[in-house]
Amino acid sequence: MNHDRSHALFTRASELLPGGVNSPVRAFKSVGGEPFFAQRAQGPYLFDVDGNRYIDYVGSWGPMIAGHAHPQVLDAVARTMRDGLSFGVPNPLEVTMAEAITSIVPSCEMVRMVNSGTEATLSAIRVARGATGRSRIVKFEGCYHGHGDSFLVKAGSGALTFGLPNSPGVPKALADLTLTLPYNDFEAATALFDEVGIDIAGLIIEPIVGNANCILPREGYLQHLRELCTRHGALLIFDEVMTGFRVALGGAQQRYGIAPDLSTFGKIIGGGMPVGAFGGRRDLMRQVAPSGPIYQAGTLSGNPVAMAAGLATLELIQAQGFHDALEASTHALCGGLEAAAREAGVAFHTTRAPGMFGLYFREGPVESFADALGSDAAKFGRFFHAMLERGVYLAPSAFEAGFMSSAHSEADIAATVDAARAAFAVVAAA
Ligand code: PMP
Repeated sequence: MNHDRSHALFTRASELLPGGVNSPVRAFKSVGGEPFFAQRAQGPYLFDVDGNRYIDYVGSWGPMIAGHAHPQVLDAVARTMRDGLSFGVPNPLEVTMAEAITSIVPSCEMVRMVNSGTEATLSAIRVARGATGRSRIVKFEGCYHGHGDSFLVKAGSGALTFGLPNSPGVPKALADLTLTLPYNDFEAATALFDEVGIDIAGLIIEPIVGNANCILPREGYLQHLRELCTRHGALLIFDEVMTGFRVALGGAQQRYGIAPDLSTFGKIIGGGMPVGAFGGRRDLMRQVAPSGPIYQAGTLSGNPVAMAAGLATLELIQAQGFHDALEASTHALCGGLEAAAREAGVAFHTTRAPGMFGLYFREGPVESFADALGSDAAKFGRFFHAMLERGVYLAPSAFEAGFMSSAHSEADIAATVDAARAAFAVVAAA
């Protein structure tokens, strides 16, 4: 595979952008080597500037659940943009979007659109603090909620990959207000709430942890957190930026039958455009400006083109059987990879939810952050590059979930498993 053009671009970019990129994980730091530069994308494929094609299991980190460049999404964008890119006054698509989100996710009685997942989570904890009059928030080791100051404490995703659990620039006084818990540990949560429950404004969690690879909740765990929050007067915040509209139409809260007080979204509801949202109980959302005193705003929030892309995507995923098919293809992929690893004699385990999966170079089960960290990152790096050379693009880190779209066909999955047979042999031989 030739990468001359990508290499030349990365050389230029490295002088101008920190690490040559606009978001850390893209730089391939954790797997080594250099990123490729995308020229275009179609369905399940990415095409780089050197003309190489990859079966893409990142999907722009989640938004492209219906595949890249879906004609219905592109048409909606093209139609909408002819009328202007931004108005700075309300537009009808914002109302349609709010109706779509609140009808798909019943715990969200009202929503506010923002421009990224980071904005959504920042705003949600402000609402939690403003509404409860308390200061402390609880998060979980390995969970990533964007790069807001309060969340860069034992964070997942790039912050984990680069070993920067506490970023310089986050004031200690603020970080001290963030308490962390081990995910899936019932007793630790009970003990923390027994001790300081009265000070806790909100507990924020990725209901399925997609930023420390992919860790599923133990039976009853999310319910346990729901009960603790209710008992201690803290708000339960589900960060569904990744899981929302993916693991079920109504997200993880539908899949596990839990009603959080507040939820955050992003990715899919923008269909590939920069979008986020937070929403929840009406009595809480009514406290957001201008109907209430908790301030939150955005010049481009509710942008018509972004709403159009998101609405077109939401329409596609409401097709009959969409999430069942996504679940079936995720199982087919993960089952195929596990079988290929067994043939090669490589210790390997997968975790799965509809449309998202975790790959671990260790035996299962994986139920905690510590279990996830036990995956052999060096082996993952070798596997990642062996797959890339064979035209399969996995998330370039051992600690990120993979994503599937409805565009991945049986043939794509079979080609991926074929590539994996060779890639596991490379891992076994090293
Ligand atoms: N929350 C979760 C669960 C995420 O996965 C992410 C991003 N991957 C964010 C928040 C932050 O979203 P954004 O990158 O759009 O700011």
